[in-house]
Amino acid sequence: MEWEIVIGLEIHVQLSTQSKLFSGASTRFGAAPNSQACAVDLAMPGTLPVPNEEAFRYAVMFGLAMNAEIGKRSVFERKNYFYPDLPKGYQTTQLEQPIVGAGEVEIHLEDGSSKKVRLHHAHLEEDAGKSLHEDFHGMSGIDLNRAGTPLIEIVSEPDMRSAAEAVAYLKKIHSIVTYLGISDGDMSQGSLRCDANVSVRLKGEEKLGTRTELKNINSFRFVERAIKVEAERQIDILEDGGSIVQETRLYDADKNETRSMRSKEVANDYRYFPCPDLLPVVITDTYIEQLRELLPELPDAKAERFQSEYSLSAYDADQLTQERIIADYFEEVCKSCGEPKLAANWVTGELAALLNRQEISIQESPVSAQQLAGLIVRVKDNTISSKIAKQVFEAMAEGEGSADEVIEKRGLKQVSDTGAIEQMVEAVIAASGAQVDNYRKADESKRPKMMGYFVGQIMKASKGQANPQMINKILKEKLDALL
Ligand code: ADP
Ligand code: MG
Repeated sequence: MEWEIVIGLEIHVQLSTQSKLFSGASTRFGAAPNSQACAVDLAMPGTLPVPNEEAFRYAVMFGLAMNAEIGKRSVFERKNYFYPDLPKGYQTTQLEQPIVGAGEVEIHLEDGSSKKVRLHHAHLEEDAGKSLHEDFHGMSGIDLNRAGTPLIEIVSEPDMRSAAEAVAYLKKIHSIVTYLGISDGDMSQGSLRCDANVSVRLKGEEKLGTRTELKNINSFRFVERAIKVEAERQIDILEDGGSIVQETRLYDADKNETRSMRSKEVANDYRYFPCPDLLPVVITDTYIEQLRELLPELPDAKAERFQSEYSLSAYDADQLTQERIIADYFEEVCKSCGEPKLAANWVTGELAALLNRQEISIQESPVSAQQLAGLIVRVKDNTISSKIAKQVFEAMAEGEGSADEVIEKRGLKQVSDTGAIEQMVEAVIAASGAQVDNYRKADESKRPKMMGYFVGQIMKASKGQANPQMINKILKEKLDALL
C-alpha cells in the first residue's frame, strides 16, 4: 500500500517589540525571573490592556510578505483555560477576525523543485509564562517574564506532503520574519516554535486522515525527524488494522519517538469570547500601503535578482538568500572581488563548512567578506591555485591576516616560471620509467587520462604550487616528444 503524509504547521513567532502586547513591561530575554511581568500582564483587577502598535505593524508586514489579505478589523478574544503559567486564567488571542487572512508562499526543495503552500491565517496573541522544572525539587518554578510577549501564530493549510516540505516551509517562514526584522527567529531561545499536525492517507484518497499534533518542536532537524517517526507510527497502526486517535503528542528527541500528551480538547472547552477590555482594531488602507512601501527586498525577490544580476544558478541563489546576513555577506564579497560564481562557491562551500564546524553564525565569522574577496582575487589572477587557496583560507580563519599576507608569509605563490616547471616535469619523467613506457604503448585516446599520474607527482613535488595549466602544457610536450 502506498501512503501519503499530510502536514499542516502552526508556527509561533515571538515579535521583537520592546514592550509587551498589552503593557509597557519589557520583553528583553534573560532578565531575573518575574522581574518583567507587570500588573497588566497578570490581569490584576482594575488594570486595562492597551494594544501595542508595533506588534500590529509587524503582523501587517508579515501579512504583506505572505501575499495575504489583511484583516481591516481585527478582534481580540479570551481563550479561557487554567494553567500555572497563566495566572490571568485566559490568553488574549484572535479567532474569528485575525489580523492576517489567507495567503500563500512558495517553498524551494532540495531537488530544485518549488511548490506553493497556502496560509490559512495568522493571528496576534500573547505568550504565557514559563514553568521551570529543572532547578526545583518536588515543585515547579514559574517565571512570568514572558507573559504578555507578542506572538503571531501562523497557521498553514495542510499542504505539505513530506517532512522535507515541512522543513522547507518552516525555513521559509523563518527567513521571511528575519528579513522583515520582526523577530530574531532564534529557535533555541523559543522565538520561533512549531507545532506539526500530521496525518496519513492512502495515495489517491481525498479525505484527510485523522491527525495528531506534535507540540513545540524547537529545531529544523527535530521537525523533520518528529514528522517522519510520527508518520511511520501512524502507518504501522493503520496497516495493522487499527485507527488513529486525534491527540496532542510530544516528540522525545533522545528516544526519537512521539508520546501521547493529552487527547485533543475541542475548541469549545476554551469558551472563547471577545475581550470586553479591548476594542476592535481598524486598519486603514493608507496604513497598509505605507507599510508595503517600507518592506525590504524579500528572499524570493533577492534570489531572482541574484540569478539575473550575478548569473547564479537557482540553487545557489536559493542557498545564499535563505538568511539575509548571508546574502549581505555574499554581496559584499562579490562587490569587492567581481567574481560572483567564485564568491558563491566559497560562501556556500568552504565558509559554510567552517561556520558549521565552529558552530558559529556568519556574524562571528573569523574570515570577513573583505578577506574572502581578497583571496578570490588571488585565485582569479593565478597567484595561487584553488587548492592552495583552501590552505590560505584556513590560515585566515586562524587569524593570520589577509590573503596577501598569508601568501607572502608562507611563501605560497604559484610557480609560473617555465624553467622551474620544466625541471620538475623532467625530474618526474626520469623517475617514472614504467609509467612512461605505458604511456608510449597506450592508445592515443587513453593518453590524456594517463597524464593524471604525472601531473599528480609534479604537483606533489611542487607542494601544490606549480601552475596546473603550465604543468599540463609542458608535460604533454615532453611526453609526446618521447613517442
Ligand atoms: P485546531 O483549531 O484544532 O488547531 P485547525 O483546523 O485550525 O485545528 O488546524 C490546525 C492545523 O492542523 C492547521 O495547520 C491545519 O492545516 C492542520 N490540519 C488540519 N487537519 C489536518 C490533517 N488531517 N492532517 C494534517 N494536518 C491537518
Ligand atoms: Mg491550533
